[in-house]
Amino acid sequence: MKHFDYIIAGGGCSGRSLAVRLLPYLKATHKQVLLVDNITKKANDKTWCFWEEQPDLFEPVVCKKWKHLSFSSSITDQESPIYPYEYKMIRSADFYTYTDKILAEHPHITILKGTVENLYTENELAYAIIDGQKYSSDYTFSSIPQVQTKKTERYQYLLQHFLGWIIETEKAIFDTERATLMDFNTSQKAGTSFVYVLPLNSKRALVEYTVFSEQLLTGKDYTDALKDYITQQLECKNYTIEEREYGIIPMSDHPVQSQKGRIIYLGTAGGFTKASTGYTFRFIQKHTTAIVEQLLKSGAPHVSSVFPKRFRTYDATLLHLLASGRVSGEEIFSTMFQKNKATQILKFLDNETTLTEELHIFKTLNKKEFAYALLNRTLKFFRI
Ligand SMILES: Cc1cc2nc3c(=O)[nH]c(=O)nc-3n(C[C@H](O)[C@H](O)[C@H](O)COP(=O)(O)OP(=O)(O)OC[C@H]3O[C@@H](n4cnc5c(N)ncnc54)[C@H](O)[C@@H]3O)c2cc1C
Repeated sequence: MKHFDYIIAGGGCSGRSLAVRLLPYLKATHKQVLLVDNITKKANDKTWCFWEEQPDLFEPVVCKKWKHLSFSSSITDQESPIYPYEYKMIRSADFYTYTDKILAEHPHITILKGTVENLYTENELAYAIIDGQKYSSDYTFSSIPQVQTKKTERYQYLLQHFLGWIIETEKAIFDTERATLMDFNTSQKAGTSFVYVLPLNSKRALVEYTVFSEQLLTGKDYTDALKDYITQQLECKNYTIEEREYGIIPMSDHPVQSQKGRIIYLGTAGGFTKASTGYTFRFIQKHTTAIVEQLLKSGAPHVSSVFPKRFRTYDATLLHLLASGRVSGEEIFSTMFQKNKATQILKFLDNETTLTEELHIFKTLNKKEFAYALLNRTLKFFRI
């Protein structure tokens, strides 16, 4: 049986983020890592957008940044500078190529293509069964989805599902300095629905129709919504579709186990997808940074928490309110953007505001409905 100091099970966003962040530590300690994934990742299967104040490790693969964000709905139209933040985009294909190159050059990393069939922990070690072979490690970091049985009587389960097109237009119609974070001027029949418009140049943009709901739509529903938006809101008739992106991100307050003995969960599997927005990329970066800091400090990678626990309650409350349908998502987000500075909302959604700042934001919201959702969530949560 082969032993590694660390096994990274799953070489997607979080597995590779951790592997790259670990490199200086591995060099200094001469430790060995096995990074395993069942797919050779090359295709642009995801486009990650996020905001941050300072350039981080993956700045070299950021393909576009915006200093202004806009928000539109039938209630309000807002456009704001977001300094000190920038809203950024990374194409996963660039991220995979970049990380492949860095990791392949490193003698402390072994890359394996294989299916992880089982992970378990016993006697101070973690074990992985990969294509029938047994491997051991001091610690295993896994981003392989954990199997969970839904408890609908206790938790809320929504899906964020979306179809995006990179379109090339005949005329120059996009403002390249400004990204549209949410435009609710689209049908709200299927649930909370909005469109992102992320211009790459004046004639090219990622236009993504996004829905928060329990049920997925048919392919035609997404396509019709995108076509309508492009012709009616962008007032564009002549365009070509260059690329497509379809995705589903779980939005739930169902707690996930972030570690089991010597197995530490990363990314979506570790609960780092924000339940109320689906944003994950920045939380993965914060978590993997914290793991490496902890290793440097104590030699063990256990991280107690990356952000205060109260943010999970806020997310769960918003999720319950969205799912209840008592107030539309359009109204909730419109009020938030109308009555608060965009930078404060970004800081809040990043789980980085102080309690005082949060109280300030809460004062601007529909207090009665949020209190009702919080009560509802609390009663469900403590139901035996
Ligand atoms: C289309 C799409 C767009 C998204 N856009 C954004 C965005 O703009 N901003 C944002 O913050 N978040 C976004 N997300 C959410 C989140 O950032 C991504 O899902 C992100 O990839 C999560 O990283 P991860 O490491 O948890 O999972 P993944 O990146 O999916 O990595 C998990 C890896 O495990 C591998 N694997 C699974 N099972 C096995 C097995 N049994 N054996 C071996 N390997 C296995 C998979 O092949 C995969 O490579 C998006 C999600 C999707 C689906």
